Amino acid sequence: MKINVLDTTLRDGEQTPGVSLTSNEKLRIAKKLDEIGVDIIEAGSAITSEGEKEAIRQITHQGLNAEISSFARSLKGDIDSCIDCDVDCVNLVVSTSDIHIKYKLNSSRDEVIENMVSNIEYAKDHGLIVELSAEDATRTDFEYLKKVFQTALDTGADRLCPCDTVGVLTPEKSYDFYNKLSFLDGPLSAHCHNDYGLAVANTLEAIRGGATIIHGTINGIGERAGNASLEEIVVALNNLYEGKYTTDIKINQLYNASKLVSRTTGVYLQPNKAIVGENVFAHESGIHADGVIKNASTYESITPELLGRHRKFVVGKHTGTKGLKNRLEELGIDVDKEQLLEIFKQVKDFSDKGKCLTDVDLQAISDKVLEKDMKQKVNLEEVTVVSGNNVTPTASVKLKTGDSEILESSTGLGPVDAAYNAVKKCLNEFSDVELEEFHVDAITGGADALIDVITKVSLGDKVISSRGTDSDIIIASVESYLTGVNRLLEENDEDL
Ligand code: MN
Repeated sequence: MKINVLDTTLRDGEQTPGVSLTSNEKLRIAKKLDEIGVDIIEAGSAITSEGEKEAIRQITHQGLNAEISSFARSLKGDIDSCIDCDVDCVNLVVSTSDIHIKYKLNSSRDEVIENMVSNIEYAKDHGLIVELSAEDATRTDFEYLKKVFQTALDTGADRLCPCDTVGVLTPEKSYDFYNKLSFLDGPLSAHCHNDYGLAVANTLEAIRGGATIIHGTINGIGERAGNASLEEIVVALNNLYEGKYTTDIKINQLYNASKLVSRTTGVYLQPNKAIVGENVFAHESGIHADGVIKNASTYESITPELLGRHRKFVVGKHTGTKGLKNRLEELGIDVDKEQLLEIFKQVKDFSDKGKCLTDVDLQAISDKVLEKDMKQKVNLEEVTVVSGNNVTPTASVKLKTGDSEILESSTGLGPVDAAYNAVKKCLNEFSDVELEEFHVDAITGGADALIDVITKVSLGDKVISSRGTDSDIIIASVESYLTGVNRLLEENDEDL
């Protein structure tokens, strides 16, 4: 059975505290969602602001395959804003629980239905597809909810969505709840929130109970604990239900979409996030790595290929010699047995000091053991940053490569951003190195702490993590970035 996917990253996801997207950012995400095969994109809430309207309008005018929807309260003004944006569909939201009716709307059950009827009629008269969402449906008197939905269908609503707005369903309740609603002659959507970490489980049970549309967000972002994570639902349906349910989502693009959303929203993922987390295909433990090298199915139920990702062996305290050899090979380092054992010993010593080992640390250890001399191709000569209140953060950077010096300056959102932009300007003439990740840690407490910056940079499909440590956060950041860049250039044998 085909399950339709509604993505609400741009509406419920954008309601994540601290997240606000520009219209260009929204457009980029919408295009990606369309590319990965989302059936319906909830692009925003048109009434919110002029900027939001413009963003939704840009998306509706892209000629995307997906149906484009906007959130609307049961108010004519909200629907008018949606019409202005040329959306295909409104997600018409009606509060149905007594708590919402009494405290939020100061209204009555009958009034809510009357109002809903006139607004469904209004939206239908303007040629819109109407998905009628009952807000807080899972805390709504069930007889009343049935009446709301039956009336909505009779008035012309196309789809029904009983929202688990505060995330109080359990998987068992979710199945029963949808099963009891499946007599209704219209498609049902599942819209689950993750307050108890059950949003995905509740969505899957909603499908078993009769839902044919799922609402989700990329990376599960959303208000409070977030929404059901789209990628988790899609991969679970694909892998765990014996082919009973299908979606049109291109699974091998989900990781890309996740990266785009985390970078754009600034909401970074926990490494152990299912499906798209950094550790999903990483193995450190000697026993596990050894098993996976012999046969991946020993410790993996999802293959990296399915998700367009790569398996990686992280070197650390729990690494065995086989995992270490594998990682060294990936980094293009050839060692004999004796050298391997010496590197292995030094890696354990390093990890015992409580530090996490980056690729560059590993390479430095290997270089020492192999008695190789590592010369950096690009070196930092100078960095100057101006920042403060009422000034645009500006940085100038001087890099030295061979006998030549490159001097560039740039602005940024903050001092580190400005410094990186300046470095990128210096490098961009020569290469396409991309910054993938950036983490800052204060090693010791206090304002005089040593700052440890770990960055991840990539060139083509090569990714390398590296570290910079200094009492100055800007210098630590630039050093870390340049160390990674140098390693990438060395591996690719590129000259600047
Ligand atoms: Mn919601």
